[in-house]
Amino acid sequence: MNLIFLGAPGSGKGTVAKKVTEKFSIPQISTGDLLREELKKDSRLSWELKSYMDSGKLVPDSIIVPMLKVRLSKKDCEKGFILDGFPRTIAQAELLGKEGVKIEKAVLFDVPMKEVYDRIVNRRTCKSCGAVYNILTIPPKKEGVCDKCGGELYSREDQRPEVITKRLEVYAKETEPLIEYYREKKKLIKVDANQIPEKVLQATIEKLRE
Ligand code: AMP
Repeated sequence: MNLIFLGAPGSGKGTVAKKVTEKFSIPQISTGDLLREELKKDSRLSWELKSYMDSGKLVPDSIIVPMLKVRLSKKDCEKGFILDGFPRTIAQAELLGKEGVKIEKAVLFDVPMKEVYDRIVNRRTCKSCGAVYNILTIPPKKEGVCDKCGGELYSREDQRPEVITKRLEVYAKETEPLIEYYREKKKLIKVDANQIPEKVLQATIEKLRE
C-alpha cells in the first residue's frame, strides 16, 4: 500500500504516520527528516538546504527528488510506504507518476490554520531521539527534558513565528491544490485532525481499512 499523508505543518500527520507504520508494517518516509539528516553533515549542500529550510521555503526539486528516489529504492519500501511531506506541489505529484510510483490513497489531515500555528509554536523536539512534545498539550514530565531518553528538548529554527507564517503561506499556495488534485483522482481520504492524537490515529486506521 503506497500512501501519501497530506496536511499543513503542525497537522500531526508525522506523528500519526509513525503509528500507522507499526500497524501496516510499511515505512514512513518523511522528506523533512531526510533533509534534516543531510543538514547534520557540514557540507556545501547542507548549507544550501539550511538557507531554504530555516526561512520556510521549499527546497528545489533538483535536490529533494534524487534523495527521495534513493530512499524509495530501498528494500523496506517493496510492500509500500507512507510519504510524509511529499508531494508538496502539483509538479512533485506529477513527478511521482512519471517515475511510475503508484499511489493508492492520499490522506488529508484537516486542521484549522490558527490551530496549526499554535501547535508549531509550542512544539519541542528531542535532540537525541526526535520525540515530539507540545508544551501545552503533551508536556514532558520535566521541563526541557525528553521523557523517553533524557535528551534535551529544543525548538527548531523553522518554528520561529515569522518562519511558521511563511511555511503556512507556502502550504496554502503550493500544497493545498493537491487536495483537489487527489480528490479528482478519487484517492482523497479526509481525517478530522483537530482532536487528540489517539482519536486521529483511530480515525485514520478505520478509514484506511474501509
Ligand atoms: P517538514 O518537516 O515536512 O515540515 O519539512 C521541513 C522543511 O523541509 C520544509 O519547510 C521544506 O523547506 C523542506 N521540505 C520537506 N519536504 C519537502 C518537499 N517535498 N519539497 C520541498 N521542500 C521540502
